[in-house]
Amino acid sequence: MSGDDIDARLDRLATQPFRARFQLRGRDRAIAELRGPQTIRRHAHQLIEQRLAPAHPAKDGKQTPYRGHPVFVAQHATATCCRTCLSKWHDIAPAVALTEQQQTYVVDVICRWIGRQMSSTYLS
Ligand SMILES: [Zn+2]
Repeated sequence: MSGDDIDARLDRLATQPFRARFQLRGRDRAIAELRGPQTIRRHAHQLIEQRLAPAHPAKDGKQTPYRGHPVFVAQHATATCCRTCLSKWHDIAPAVALTEQQQTYVVDVICRWIGRQMSSTYLS
């Protein structure tokens, strides 16, 4: 999916009051600043692989904290927090392990959202 398509999807999600409440601030924002885009992307890959990609993730629906890492905040903002939201908003079927390609898509969405929160230099 292209950057423009992801932006269109993020714009649509931002019209949802529940999703729009999530912003990068405080310590979560500081982590994104300090670590930089490449490290955050690597973290996103690891977190998604462990917590979202399995066919039946542990504590699905409650596996994503509301703070503690910028990727967690991004997951709530982008509806990539659990398999139910992923199915509803991103057309990814539940109860089947995510493919590599689907994981990359989720990571792209998360990192795009973080980049939009930070600045244009963070995105490039
Ligand atoms: Zn969810």
